[in-house]
Amino acid sequence: MREEIAAARARGPVPDFAAFLAEVRRKVEHLRQSRLRPLINATGVLIHTNFGRAPLANEALAAISTIGSQYSNLEFDLEQGERGHRGTYVEEALAALCSAQAATVVNNCAAALVLIVSHFTRKRRQVLISRGELVQIGGGFRIPEILEVSGAELREVGTTNRTSAEDYRRAISREVALILKVHRSNFVTDGFVSSASARELAPLAKRHHVLFVEDLGAGALWDTASVPGLTHEPTPAESLRNGADLVTFSGDKLMGGPQAGLIAGRKKLVASLKHDPLFRALRCDKLLLSALEATVELYLNGAARARIPVIAMAQTPIEVLRSRAEALKLQLSGLPLRVEVGTGASRMGGGGLPGCCIESATLELVPADVPLLEFSRRLLNGNPPVVGLISRKRLVLDLRTVFPEQDDAVAAALRAALQS
Ligand SMILES: *Cc1c(COP(=O)(O)O)cnc(C)c1O
Repeated sequence: MREEIAAARARGPVPDFAAFLAEVRRKVEHLRQSRLRPLINATGVLIHTNFGRAPLANEALAAISTIGSQYSNLEFDLEQGERGHRGTYVEEALAALCSAQAATVVNNCAAALVLIVSHFTRKRRQVLISRGELVQIGGGFRIPEILEVSGAELREVGTTNRTSAEDYRRAISREVALILKVHRSNFVTDGFVSSASARELAPLAKRHHVLFVEDLGAGALWDTASVPGLTHEPTPAESLRNGADLVTFSGDKLMGGPQAGLIAGRKKLVASLKHDPLFRALRCDKLLLSALEATVELYLNGAARARIPVIAMAQTPIEVLRSRAEALKLQLSGLPLRVEVGTGASRMGGGGLPGCCIESATLELVPADVPLLEFSRRLLNGNPPVVGLISRKRLVLDLRTVFPEQDDAVAAALRAALQS
């Protein structure tokens, strides 16, 4: 902005000052809009990567506020009165939660992978991975690229659609440091497909003295299959029980906590990772640790299902959503807007379970006097912005991802969008 004003000055007198001023105002406003602010997610995608993934539980927020606003024992041992270790408690709690010997945390799951691959490929350099698992996860995160920056040599086995344990076995040599299995968290394959299971790969790795690491990505810590419409998502505990030496997953996907990369598994391996200088570079700050600690405690206390927003939202009974939709419809009657209550299909999103849908209730909207695209654009520019989906010439708002206390704000936003 400053540069543009300076350039305008250098050009001499501004011919149309009002237009120039309007343009500067428009740009300032545009910049202001890009500040972080809350929005109402009516897309039905519970863990939306563009919308900050998992909203945090109140307990996690309270912990951030308490720990963030004061001094804390982050690296201080109160019993000994001397320097202590960061994350001791959360590591113990996480290990318990994953039925693992040990656990630790870094900034995100990508960092966990970089750390593990880089740390364990310094002598032997190769990582075995199935061609069916050389995947891209969200923007700018590709497994092959992650392996490359970690200094590892990628050894692809099998084919895109089929990889057997025998494919891995044939590729094992003295150069191989680890077998990496990446969970397909954001896509499904169908047809003539097969892959080697963790149960087959673990003994193979053990026999040849190579590590077996499983990247679960979403890594649910609750039974996703208990929600009608969802299937079972592998848990870190299962992965370890199946023989993985280490397992990695994100804190802000199905777990429903803050952004974090969780690592669980064998004690010796976790301890070794923590001594790597990279670990220091990827370590978590106190705010993340406090939120993670509070989230992990909700699981350990059995309160996760009720208190963690993404789990609670996934479980909201369809009848509850329907009656909210009917109430909203009533609230909107008399406006130049056709409102119908429809049936939607919410998805867990970036968090996993790609093929699954949870039945939901929607508002299907057709404004009488405003073009649909313009209506949708006004909602995006509203305060708070409301994001829905346009489908079959209607604007569809899925109520599963709208917090009940936001219903009035949705009604107000719709009213405003019809007027402006
Ligand atoms: C999401 C995901 C990652 C990356 O996790 P971040 O926490 O976003 O860094 C890695 N692997 C898999 C399988 C994932 O699904």
